[in-house]
Amino acid sequence: MARIVMKFGGTSMAGIDRIRSVAARVKREVAAGNQVAVVVSAMAGETDRLVGFCREASALYDPKEYDVVVSAGEQITSGLLAIALQAAGVPARSWLGWQLAIATSDAHASARIENIDMAALEASLAAGEVAVIPGFQGVDAEGRVTTLGRGGSDTSAVAMAAAMKADRCDIYTDVDGVYTTDPRIVPRARKLKKVTYEEMLELASVGAKVLQTRSVGLAMKEGVRVQVLSSFTGEDAPMADTLPGTMIVGEEEIDDMESQLITGIAHDKNEAKITLIAVPDKPGAVAAIFAPLAAANINVDMIIQNIAHAARSTDVTFTVPAADLARSIEVLNQARGEIGFAELVHDTRVAKISVVGVGMRSHAGVASTMFSTLGERGINIQAISTSEIKVSVLIEEDYTELAVRVLHTAYGLDAVDAA
Ligand code: ADP
Ligand code: ASP
Ligand code: MG
Repeated sequence: MARIVMKFGGTSMAGIDRIRSVAARVKREVAAGNQVAVVVSAMAGETDRLVGFCREASALYDPKEYDVVVSAGEQITSGLLAIALQAAGVPARSWLGWQLAIATSDAHASARIENIDMAALEASLAAGEVAVIPGFQGVDAEGRVTTLGRGGSDTSAVAMAAAMKADRCDIYTDVDGVYTTDPRIVPRARKLKKVTYEEMLELASVGAKVLQTRSVGLAMKEGVRVQVLSSFTGEDAPMADTLPGTMIVGEEEIDDMESQLITGIAHDKNEAKITLIAVPDKPGAVAAIFAPLAAANINVDMIIQNIAHAARSTDVTFTVPAADLARSIEVLNQARGEIGFAELVHDTRVAKISVVGVGMRSHAGVASTMFSTLGERGINIQAISTSEIKVSVLIEEDYTELAVRVLHTAYGLDAVDAA
């Protein structure tokens, strides 16, 4: 007997027929003798719809009430899956975030899981029931419902797997694994059998939304074995324990590390570029820009600064999440006296393209291949940032797909059997 967590995303839960097919898949695992907890997302599009209602009700909505509204989608699908399982002859019970309880911080809309009380769940599993848990939600110390940030059901599943000491956390989605890049953009993308936690963490954080970044960080910390696999397969599909999808693993489980220079490419269109023109070139100037942004909880990503010696001033360019652009402009304008910039310009028509691979640690030339490949296609690079296993560039948004495709070919990632 194995203990497994099965997580089903929005497209896998989109409608009663899909939920029935999820129930059949869960039933197969139960019939194989496994103890199962299922974590579910809201139906595809539902969370967007609920977020839209909040925005319509008030641009300045209270995050505590936002969480009450947007967590509702998962409440519905968890109940529906429990009903579908029962109808299929599988004993099942749903457990809302406050019922378990899944204790989180009080950072509404982006809360962190702090503890999961397993008592009720263990009793239910021991009684032979499948536990169905709505992803994305928890409860804070005041007893108010919280949510974990968009895509947060992945994190709920990994946290549940850690708390249950599960043998595996299977993340079922609408693709059959993690690919060298988003297979919806590059049909020649190759499915990876294994990806290291570290690479997956970088890929997720630079836009590969197949797993929420936090879920990968948590899996790495807790040593949870995570598999990404498809829920869109028939009843004769191989069982999940034959590992048909992609396993997220420690580096020691990858044999041919040396031959993997680049593991994957990701893109992110949700960044905005801000340039402050003519900032005085003096100590403390940069701190004057970024301190108020940090105080407003705005994450700054890429930063470039050019010193124009003659004018004793400098232009500072950086990126922030597009959703935080308006707030960033407000914060910077309020601090204008202190910063002393002449003008603020911004641009949302940008995209960040990133190449990721642990092989970069031991090989030179990754960045230069990226720059020359983009240059040959006439794609201008507006900003650059690097980490030990990642190079990112900021380009004009219209070139996103082209850039991902040409880089995919340049790093030899195209599937060999692709036309
Ligand atoms: P779910 O609703 O199941 O959580 P998501 O839409 O959040 O699913 O994530 C799955 C999607 O992630 C895929 O449909 C695919 O378009 C996208 N994706 C982005 N990058 C990758 C990648 N490298 N490999 C696989 N899928 C990717
Ligand atoms: N339903 C939530 C969202 O759309 C959480 C999730 O699906 O992971 O962000
Ligand atoms: Mg998702």
